Amino acid sequence: MKTERANAKINPYLDVVGLREDGYHNIVSIMQTVSLCDLVTVDFHPGVHTSIRISASGNDQMPTDCRNLAWRAAEKYLQRVQRAGSVQIIIQKNIPMAAGLAGGSADAAAVLRALNRLCGSPLTAEELCEVGVTLGADVPFCIRGGSALVRGIGERLSEIPAMPQGHLVVACRGEGVSTPWAYGALDEKYGKHYSQSTATETVKHITEEWKNQSLLTSCAHFYNVFEEVVPTVHGHVETLKQIMRDGGAVQAMMSGSGPSVFGVFEGQDAAFEACARLREAGAAAFVCHPCEKYE
Ligand code: ATP
Repeated sequence: MKTERANAKINPYLDVVGLREDGYHNIVSIMQTVSLCDLVTVDFHPGVHTSIRISASGNDQMPTDCRNLAWRAAEKYLQRVQRAGSVQIIIQKNIPMAAGLAGGSADAAAVLRALNRLCGSPLTAEELCEVGVTLGADVPFCIRGGSALVRGIGERLSEIPAMPQGHLVVACRGEGVSTPWAYGALDEKYGKHYSQSTATETVKHITEEWKNQSLLTSCAHFYNVFEEVVPTVHGHVETLKQIMRDGGAVQAMMSGSGPSVFGVFEGQDAAFEACARLREAGAAAFVCHPCEKYE
């Protein structure tokens, strides 16, 4: 039996730079693992037939059948390594769902890492990512974790300097956002014409600041293209950002396709106070910090 952390991610930088012929979008993103996490326990007993069972706590909205990305990860993994048996998955769900925090992708990645260990590590990290990208664009990053520059549809990961340690708050309120809907809204706004324009330059600014351990000054370059479409239909986004700014956040912005918002704070006390204000306003809110990549 193995228990893995399945950490949420935030996007300090996220731009859509092209629409592919197959309908997927090419992105340029800096993704960062944060300490808010689900706990995923996996047990595997080899056998003639495959059976997969999920039990969950923490959120009764999460599907526990084959609609769960963790379930599909187990199925794909066993197909890839040509093994069969019974898989038992227990998910303690802490990450808000459909929030732009890649909770489902994190759970799927945790199952892939755990099953690979339980089977004696037959797949390399790269091979696990190949399985992962067939499940979802954020899964390869969630297999690796830490800080990374992510391109293509999410399958091209490059090493960047680690995000300097700091005090983060992640908050979420109201209805989730469907990622396909958010991409569709961007397609409508941009007439499906995207450009690389400033992405490379801005990513360079952020990573240079991180190399110099300057988190607070890097915040001025943070950007998320989905802020152009999601807050207009999701009133809570601006409210949560404003509570964070009023509480002293150096930066407050949406993560992924939203509607979760993260804030960067100079001190721990300010982060905890802002978290309390956000909860008073009805949000799920968490103080957290950046994490390094998985071992
Ligand atoms: P991303 O940032 O990768 O777009 P997200 O954080 O916006 O992801 P998820 O929390 O992964 O979204 O959930 C999106 C949908 O996927 C949910 O509405 C849920 O029905 C489904 N789902 C399947 N498996 C899981 C899982 N293990 N955890 C959460 N949601 C899951």
